[in-house]
Amino acid sequence: MGGKITRFFSEKLPRDSRERFHALDSLGFTPVFTLRQEHGDTVVRLRKPYRFPGIDALIASQPRGDSVVTDQPGLYVGVKTADCVPILLWDEEAGVVAAAHAGWRGTAKNIAGKTIAIMRDEFGAKNISAAIGPCICAHCFETDEDVPDVMPPEAFDFITGISPGRFTVDLPGINAALLRQAGVAGVALPPACTACNPEVYWSHRKHKNDRGLQVSLIGIS
Ligand SMILES: [Zn+2]
Repeated sequence: MGGKITRFFSEKLPRDSRERFHALDSLGFTPVFTLRQEHGDTVVRLRKPYRFPGIDALIASQPRGDSVVTDQPGLYVGVKTADCVPILLWDEEAGVVAAAHAGWRGTAKNIAGKTIAIMRDEFGAKNISAAIGPCICAHCFETDEDVPDVMPPEAFDFITGISPGRFTVDLPGINAALLRQAGVAGVALPPACTACNPEVYWSHRKHKNDRGLQVSLIGIS
């Protein structure tokens, strides 16, 4: 049996990791485990009993990956984004939660579906729910052919040609479709677009590299 699930989508947080962990701590979220994200499809497992190593040790050697699954109570797992799609997943009955980071590369690799397969096969999840956090909307995410070219067939309904060689791509829509295809019944869509709300959220498209990050986190108490 699992405990109570807590979910949180942050607004703007600092660029510096240590300052970011302290900001999360002051919001009541400690400890928070995050990854060295690399736009891939590596899923990190933190199996019970897992002991958080402390902020210094985590900053010194964050595991590489773009999704993290845990059944350890008393720990938050989170992903960092600034336009990319943060996805929180949970099965309260099984006591398992996950946070996944899906930019367009991770979306094309179906990191959402891969995370769900691991929650089911390795952690006994049966009834998974999902919530997508603040990320770039279809209107704001304009791309060349490189993005549509690598997308799976499930994405086709979410890609619109706007001029020769130019497209808009609905990343949260594609991820919601991939989640439903993986059998997730309840998918909550993003509360807001990062690029449409640059005063509230950091947006890679709007702020370029002069920016911090949002953190989307989930934990079992
Ligand atoms: Zn937008």
